Order: sequence, then structure tokens, then C-alpha cells
Amino acid sequence: MKRCRHESCGRAERIWLPYDVRGGQAGLKPHPYCIHCGVVKNISSDRARPLGYYINELTKLPLTKVQIRLILKELEAMGFDDTYSMTGTAQDEVFRRVVKKYHR
Ligand SMILES: [Zn+2]
Repeated sequence: MKRCRHESCGRAERIWLPYDVRGGQAGLKPHPYCIHCGVVKNISSDRARPLGYYINELTKLPLTKVQIRLILKELEAMGFDDTYSMTGTAQDEVFRRVVKKYHR
């Protein structure tokens, strides 16, 4: 699957959706969506982190270079650092699950 290089719609086209602040809802807010694939951008306080943050976390674990490469390959294949569709919480869950697969 080819990764979408998301591009936000214009201000006027944004759609009103519930807005989350630390797990609680804080009413509706206009959300931009991608004009190519339609995914709505995550604008909550639960932001996705760049891949570099998790690469740094991996280097702190007792993993071989090959294991790290396999983990990163798997993360990248699932759009792990997609700031539109991913939240920080979702990233943490996926990260733990994938690392557990290679590190025991
Ligand atoms: Zn897109």
C-alpha cells in the first residue's frame, strides 16, 4: 500500500467533529481532512510522535540491529508516524505490541 502524502482541505471545507482533550470530549471543532484519501486529521492533544522518538526508545532496549530494522520496517508499513490518523496513545500500543514480537 502506497503511503498518502496527506494534504489538508481548505479552511472552509473543514468538518465539525468532537474534539478530545486528554480522553474527555470538549465539544465540536472544525477538523481538516486529507483531500487525497479523506482521512480526518487528529487535532486532539493526543498527538502522534515522529518516528525518531521511537527509534530513540528502541536503542535503549537490548535489541540487535537486525531486530531494530525489522521492527522499524513493520512500523513504517502500517503508517506508524502518520500524524493524521495516529494518536500518541495508539502509537504506544502498536509500539509495545511490535517490540514484544521481536524482543522476549
Ligand atoms: Zn491522505
